[in-house]
Amino acid sequence: MATIDDRLDYVLGKKAADPLEEQFGLRTVGDLLRYFPRKYSDAMTVRGEGEELDLEEGEHVTFVDVIAKAEVKWAKNQRSREYLVVTLRDRRPKVTATFFNPKYLKKTLIEGTKVMLSGEVGYFRGTMQLTHPAFMVLDSPSGKTFGTKSLTSIAAATDATGDDLLAEFEKDFFPIYPANSKVQTWDIYACVRQALAVLDPVPETLPEWFVREHDLMSEDQALRAVHVSVNEAERNRAIERLTFDEAAGLQWGLVSRRHSALAASGPPAARRDGGLVTQMTAQLPFELTAGQREVLAVISEELSATRPMIRMLQGEVGSGKTVVSLLAMLQMIDAGYQCALLAPTEVLAVQHASSMRAMLGALAGAGELGGAENATRVALLTGSMSAAQKRDARREITSGAAGIVIGTHALLQDAVEFDNLGMVVVDEQHRFGVEQRDRLRAKAPEGITPHLLVMTATPIPRTLALTAYGDLETSTLRELPRGRQPIKTSTIFQTQKPTWLARAWERINEEVAAGRQAYIVASRIDEDDEDEKAGKAKAKKATAKVRDSDDDDRLPPPVTVVDLLAGLQRGPLKDLRLGLMHGRLSGDEKDAVMGAFRAGQIDVLVCTTVIEVGVDVPNATVMVVMDADRFGISQLHQLRGRIGRGQHPSLCLLVTRLPEESKAGQRLTAVAGTQDGFELADLDLRERSEGDVLGLYQSGRPITLKFLSLAQHLEVILAARELCETVYESDPLDSGMAALSAPFTEDDKVQFLDMS
Ligand code: ADP
Ligand code: MG
Repeated sequence: MATIDDRLDYVLGKKAADPLEEQFGLRTVGDLLRYFPRKYSDAMTVRGEGEELDLEEGEHVTFVDVIAKAEVKWAKNQRSREYLVVTLRDRRPKVTATFFNPKYLKKTLIEGTKVMLSGEVGYFRGTMQLTHPAFMVLDSPSGKTFGTKSLTSIAAATDATGDDLLAEFEKDFFPIYPANSKVQTWDIYACVRQALAVLDPVPETLPEWFVREHDLMSEDQALRAVHVSVNEAERNRAIERLTFDEAAGLQWGLVSRRHSALAASGPPAARRDGGLVTQMTAQLPFELTAGQREVLAVISEELSATRPMIRMLQGEVGSGKTVVSLLAMLQMIDAGYQCALLAPTEVLAVQHASSMRAMLGALAGAGELGGAENATRVALLTGSMSAAQKRDARREITSGAAGIVIGTHALLQDAVEFDNLGMVVVDEQHRFGVEQRDRLRAKAPEGITPHLLVMTATPIPRTLALTAYGDLETSTLRELPRGRQPIKTSTIFQTQKPTWLARAWERINEEVAAGRQAYIVASRIDEDDEDEKAGKAKAKKATAKVRDSDDDDRLPPPVTVVDLLAGLQRGPLKDLRLGLMHGRLSGDEKDAVMGAFRAGQIDVLVCTTVIEVGVDVPNATVMVVMDADRFGISQLHQLRGRIGRGQHPSLCLLVTRLPEESKAGQRLTAVAGTQDGFELADLDLRERSEGDVLGLYQSGRPITLKFLSLAQHLEVILAARELCETVYESDPLDSGMAALSAPFTEDDKVQFLDMS
């Protein structure tokens, strides 16, 4: 007998086991049993005669038919390379199967023989072709089944012959495994059956009470049924159980990670009256919203505790997260700590620094004339600063003079040393990896894990928050500060309604005449540019996802900001002051352009997605997004958040050359139809496959969720979460949970789940 931990070579023999390890990395019986079918044998349904066939390349198909013609041929350019082509009877389109080096086969697969052929569909000049399919002779004179081992071993197991045997094949369903030409799905199936035949009962992984409460199949039953059950209802029960397994495995890793993080010592910073928090609150030009106050109360409490805060603050663009983070940082500074704010782009880092300095006023003027008595300093560190500027910034950071340190990735460098880092704020989390945020946190004094506040404007559906961000607590700002204007969004189907685009430019002229400003966004910088550099990986990914095969790929390449600027300057916007902004400008150039736009010296900013995140110019009221089909749903929503930030109503126009009925067209219509970020996030989630959304990687390979769907299984995920919390409290080393989480962990270390 065998157990789930036994090595496959011991159970199956080396000859069968080695290819499984080489091709798929399967080493143990457990690995093999968790190598689940990708689908079931619809394709095994034997195709009847005269049936019209409409099968895609790569689909698995099985025929039982009589050979109408069998021809031995020679490959032209390789001498004496023989191959056999058999043609099935009465098939439309014509079906052939090809076998190379058919030494014995040419004597067996002859005209008039009844055979079963099973393999992957290929097409060649209109003929359906199976190359080296698994085959079995069904009417051999000896009555003995003859053919490929994978098929004959199934046949042998049924003890039937002739038409009875065929009936067995038709009655059963078969699992189809992710396979390749070296190890075919039939080989895997044969191995699975062989392993199951000798397998001892598999130990239960979930607590008994949980299995009962959710009326689940046992682990043992599920691992068998998912492969070999012939009963569809039973198979579905197995899948249900394995979905729970997957959710529990995923959550276990996250719950362990969170608990070990919470077990660390944080820098306690009790709120103190009369310090910077009090002074700042008094000088705010507005009242905090109820939502902001609630979130701050929670954060303030957690900052006072001796264990580190690990919290994500999500809130629509413009919901006022920045001031929340500022007040949180001031609480830390009041207690003698420094804070680091990590921004995803230079533009944003610079903007944060200037707006924080402006908000703080005299409170940020320590050591300066007019600085307040207990003032602190705001230091900025970005990659494009001069060596001297960097040195100055680093000095303020190391000495502890700067209470707030704002920067990009440059902050992560080893040369940056803090005097007493107590809190890390990460703005727009999705651009940073967990590893990066941990690198910054490691700059705290020995033995201290700083508090962490992650801010994101991308609304995150609950299931995703529980998985990709499952190690963070979340707070949400749902309301926008009073006085915020709605954004009207329209789509322009450029090819169908060309006059509308002209109307868009007119509209910009009108808005500028009324004293407003506009953004015009394009996806490329110039002809050399594939995608905007700053958001390259992301844009690429979004593009790949966004463009569906049914959309016309022969569209001309998307317009570039350089061409757009030139064309508009000569044509429809010739009377306006246009500015150009993209990721290839130097830091100084970017600052100059943004400064001029903020100061109203530029009317229209023609730009790439560098302006996507966080940029705040309340006077901008129009945004035109060219080739909007190039962008993902969340990205469009983010972009749109750059307008509607002042007292004036705003307009966003999504321009595409694709037709309204195309998938992309429908997606744009959906974005235009709602301003609810959570609704759009759900839509986004449903459109992408789970692995992409999660960005889960293990050993450089994406982790694919096989059963769990973030779009469908909120209940399962919640139950699994609760389960893991409960189990962790009683036994952090629970062996069942460890087994389930093994696919999501590596080297005993919890694999970070992250979106970036
Ligand atoms: P985001 O959540 O996108 O980072 P910001 O913090 O940039 O939003 O806030 C957007 C704008 O709203 C800023 O100009 C900010 O000063 C302003 N703001 C923040 N909170 C309030 C409030 N309670 N009342 C009025 N305006 C506010
Ligand atoms: Mg912001």
